[in-house]
Amino acid sequence: MHVTFLGTGSAMPTGERFQAGILVQNDDRTLLVDCGSGVLHRLQQSGVGYESVSTVLLTHHHLDHVADLLPLMKARWLAGEEHLEVVGPQGTKALLDDLLSVHEYMQDKLDLQVREVVPGEFSVAGFDVTAYETRHSLPCLAYRFGDLFTFSGDTEAFAGLANFAEGSAILAHDCSFPDDVDVSNHPTPEALGRELAGRDIGRVYLTHLYPHTEGRHEEMLESIGTHYDGDVRFAEDLMTISVE
Ligand SMILES: [Zn+2]
Ligand SMILES: [Zn+2]
Repeated sequence: MHVTFLGTGSAMPTGERFQAGILVQNDDRTLLVDCGSGVLHRLQQSGVGYESVSTVLLTHHHLDHVADLLPLMKARWLAGEEHLEVVGPQGTKALLDDLLSVHEYMQDKLDLQVREVVPGEFSVAGFDVTAYETRHSLPCLAYRFGDLFTFSGDTEAFAGLANFAEGSAILAHDCSFPDDVDVSNHPTPEALGRELAGRDIGRVYLTHLYPHTEGRHEEMLESIGTHYDGDVRFAEDLMTISVE
């Protein structure tokens, strides 16, 4: 399996990190997880291209995770692609209906299939996925792909999610801010380290990075490291990881 970070940023731009998007690929299967602003460009830069993405899996409906959905639909339509499947938590159907009611001319341009999922197991784009509800300001799902890859979505750090991720070769986890930012709905490095302590995870990548984190990577890794002694790194846009 290959995991490519398309966007490792958040709702506040850094100029370097685009909004949330992760590409999961296995053999000839391709799945885009989240589709924030800039992801469409990153798809082109990655060499995969929007033509290859016929399924999008959403963690939740915040703008920084869905902003490029309509641009993706329009680009696919213009390229002669006829289909898009969007899978996400409850409310995804209403979200797509509402987006298309604002941009009415986009209705019926694609064969759009929308599917809502709940915590538990399901299959999407040929991948067997398990979903787990996170702790965030909107309902949000973390996704796990067998023993290979877990993506936290947006969430506070908490034991339930650390349990959910345990045993993964790769965990990509929200780490929005450094410790001195007073934050809810996202973890600080200290809180994340505490919840990961003692867990068996191959490697952790930090993502969903606000501008506040720039220049502070070392101290954030040290803060996590006071509790968790595993391999932790910062994700970067267009970084691809091979997972066995
Ligand atoms: Zn969010
Ligand atoms: Zn977000």
